[in-house]
Amino acid sequence: MTTRDTEWRVDLRNTLTAKERAAVPRVEMPEQHPYIRNRNNEEVNLGLTSEMAVREAQRCLDCVNPTCIDGCPVSIDIPAFIKNIERGEFLESARVLKKTSALPAVCGRVCPQEKQCEAKCIYHKMKKEPVAIGHLERFAADYESGSGTISVPETAPANGIKIAVVGSGPAGLSFAGDMAKYGYDVTVFEALHEIGGVLKYGIPEFRLPNYVVDVEIDNLRAMGVKFLNNTVIGKTISIDDLKADGFQGIFVGSGAGLPRFMNIKGENLVGIMSANEYLTRVNLMDASNPDADTPVYKGKNVAVIGGGNTAMDSVRTAKRLGAERAMIVYRRSEEEMPARVEEVKHAKEEGIEFLTLHNPIEYYGNERGQVTQMLLQVMELGEPDESGRCSPVVVEGETRLIDVDEVIVSVGVSPNPLIPQSVSGLTLSKWGTIEVNKDTMQSGIPMIFAGGDIVRGGATVILAMGDGRQAAKAMNEWVLKN
Ligand code: FAD
Ligand code: SF4
Repeated sequence: MTTRDTEWRVDLRNTLTAKERAAVPRVEMPEQHPYIRNRNNEEVNLGLTSEMAVREAQRCLDCVNPTCIDGCPVSIDIPAFIKNIERGEFLESARVLKKTSALPAVCGRVCPQEKQCEAKCIYHKMKKEPVAIGHLERFAADYESGSGTISVPETAPANGIKIAVVGSGPAGLSFAGDMAKYGYDVTVFEALHEIGGVLKYGIPEFRLPNYVVDVEIDNLRAMGVKFLNNTVIGKTISIDDLKADGFQGIFVGSGAGLPRFMNIKGENLVGIMSANEYLTRVNLMDASNPDADTPVYKGKNVAVIGGGNTAMDSVRTAKRLGAERAMIVYRRSEEEMPARVEEVKHAKEEGIEFLTLHNPIEYYGNERGQVTQMLLQVMELGEPDESGRCSPVVVEGETRLIDVDEVIVSVGVSPNPLIPQSVSGLTLSKWGTIEVNKDTMQSGIPMIFAGGDIVRGGATVILAMGDGRQAAKAMNEWVLKN
């Protein structure tokens, strides 16, 4: 846990009683109207105004034992940043955030706060809505970037020790930021032409604009972190090359970008593709532009298979690209969907159809090999499985045939295999993830640490960032000992 900033606490104690604070209703995030936003790519959430942010910050009770911090994998001093907002000290609030988080403007937008910090807010015990920690985090980070006065976190004097990071997703960026703070000479190697991992190639502009990610990356640059794009570790440069170049520690944050398919009949028809391919082409290769080198097909009846964030992003993208009918096909009920609650709500408002308790079993095509129909198996809920969620069970003899001209498959991802396969001596799980010591994130090869989706399988931005922080702390101790 972090050392908390406490000097300011006295200032606010007498302004409002706890009862008065608890009586303030949670401030709603302003957003674009659904019928306007489902035709444009602009951000859906518009951000709180200063007045709204101060009002929401007043709700925070500044608990003596703030449990919300325990719900944050990067241990942001939540009451300190919120109370700075209440005092109108917006830049100071951003400074508190940046002490422990490399990506506050990103996390304020895409973290599943309802399962993290906000889930631990004391207001739940009072049967009230939690403090909108995520919305306030976004406010403070955006305020700072809009102010032109961007603070760069303090870094220790340079120690000249070279550290390599494989992959520029949230795990790699968070690790790089903390290692730069410790004084290391950090280089991030990224296979793609853009820095940011899923934050750039996966999550669409209407949820997380690229400029927001770029501001955070520029902040890391200002701390001395170097970035080398178009460089595939394991192909362009090997791990042995990095060692020979004098890198004394390597953090692998190469993610889980390998899409899975269902391997059902007709899945190779034209018009059926993985969500990874669809989103990467639209987000990074301008594929929605018909004049692009590889334009994406814009279906009119689009089915997206799956119930996670990636599925929601795909179906909402299809709607924005002109789909008349855009539907989610999910084999369990809405209750079990892993997507963020807000994404499901926004998707519904935008006119997305939800075919829950349905599972595709076959696709049919025309003479040109283009998908035209899908056969869905009707399902019901059974006993909970190993994930704790009710398992989907086939309702014998009940199927539905639905017209489609595009299908996007979003049923999970596997770890990127290049690093696990090209480095001998790494211990891998049966799923192909890298096995590490859970306290230190150190792999079986002492100089190699790993975190994020390459260790967890597809997870979340903030868990990847938490791994990056944990690995940086442990690698710093390991380097100093060796
Ligand atoms: P990644 O973000 O995948 O980054 C890995 C990077 O490593 C990539 O840029 C890749 O190109 C690079 N790389 C791979 N191999 C090499 C190599 N050999 N050499 C060099 N570079 C390499 N999580 C949330 O919390 N909230 C959300 O709303 C959310 N929405 C999502 C939407 C989509 C469409 C997707 C796909 C995921 C979403 N997630 C969300 C999950 C979240 O984005 C991931 O859990 C997180 O990005 C994992 O971070 P990472 O750093 O481990 O990997
Ligand atoms: Fe504020 Fe809720 Fe955290 Fe208490 S638990 S400090 S009320 S955000």
